[in-house]
Amino acid sequence: MIVGVPKESFPGERRVALVPSVIPNLAKAGMEVVVEKGAGVEAGYPDAAYAEKGAKILPDRAAVFATAEIVVQVLCYGSNDKTGKADVPLMRRDQVLIGFLRPLGTREVVQEVAGTGVMSFSVEMMPRTTRAQSMDALSSMATACGYKAVLIAGDVLPRFLPMLTTAAGTITPARVLVIGAGVAGLQAIATARRLGAVVSGYDLRPAVKEQVHSLGARFVELPIEAAGAQDARGYATAQDETFYARQRELLGRVVAESDVVITTAVVPGKKAPTLVTADMVRAMAPGSVIVDLAAERGGNCELTRAEEKIVTGGVTIIGWINLASTVPYHASQLYARNLTAFLVHLVKEGKVQLNLQDEIVRETLLTRGGEVVNARVREFFSLPALAPQS
Ligand code: NAD
Repeated sequence: MIVGVPKESFPGERRVALVPSVIPNLAKAGMEVVVEKGAGVEAGYPDAAYAEKGAKILPDRAAVFATAEIVVQVLCYGSNDKTGKADVPLMRRDQVLIGFLRPLGTREVVQEVAGTGVMSFSVEMMPRTTRAQSMDALSSMATACGYKAVLIAGDVLPRFLPMLTTAAGTITPARVLVIGAGVAGLQAIATARRLGAVVSGYDLRPAVKEQVHSLGARFVELPIEAAGAQDARGYATAQDETFYARQRELLGRVVAESDVVITTAVVPGKKAPTLVTADMVRAMAPGSVIVDLAAERGGNCELTRAEEKIVTGGVTIIGWINLASTVPYHASQLYARNLTAFLVHLVKEGKVQLNLQDEIVRETLLTRGGEVVNARVREFFSLPALAPQS
């Protein structure tokens, strides 16, 4: 089985799907690796490091697609809406494609991927179970984003983050509020705590209160309760506009008192809820910073502009996307380990074992034989259900 690693083509993307250190593990499971020339350079992994671990370096992208039975990418067409389409003619029937495919993005794009006949697996659809934990790329990337969000905020903030006692007097610590305490939010809380800030966390899922406390942060309790806050998979559920309006009203004071606000609140398949309004921004002190990790999904702050940094009334609002790509060495390492765990699970005795009884395989399988076969995705796009597959 030949696994191919093309260079990421999304503009500015610095990650790579596999790093040299996972190659021996793949070899043990009967997989050879081919890598496009220079694929890992931006992440800090030169071609020679891959070759040393036994990978073959190929001159271009087309050669990787032509040689590989399994193509692994970070941003496949679907999540790469800028340059991903160029891969479509390179894909062939029954070739396996694994990566971020944005399965709940656009129906036309998902169907276009299906139309190539590839057997694609979307890492976003990985079940959030203990068994699949080592394959959970969403968590790995969210970890990188949460960490980096704090560093970016600290860089822009005109204040120190920690309390400092100096001969020139005492500096009070910065107050950091993290809205949405999932994987990215909890990492942001932990990072801000390590840097000495006074940190508060808020989430509509009351289940996370204990985790916020265990990181040494305060949990912001609002006197409202979300209806069925969490679905069976552990994700937040969408609430009605009355709930969001009340949330904004109650969060207003906490936001106004914060020097840094990091927002991460998203609901799968929906636009991110607006939790910080323009009025709330106006009430913040000049010099305050908002880092909106939900920018790509519409943003949690009303004023966020995706991919941009804006300053309004002295408050900086950062809507940069793809922050994981700015920590490419470790983000790639984590992602490569997630992919390796998945590949070792999927490929047995040199063949892809398409066991649809296995929820890891069933839930991540997006397209096969020219069709979108994922039941959740078909339902989301109102496509008629397919007969059960084997
Ligand atoms: P996510 O990226 O979907 O959302 C980020 C956070 O925003 C979530 O905590 C969510 O509750 C919160 N949120 C959504 N709407 C909100 C609102 N209106 N106000 C405030 N907060 C709001 O979440 P995620 O980081 O992917 O994690 C989702 C869940 O999956 C969590 O419970 C996490 O612990 C769990 N998880 C489990 C595993 C595992 O068991 N292997 C792995 C990873 C994550």
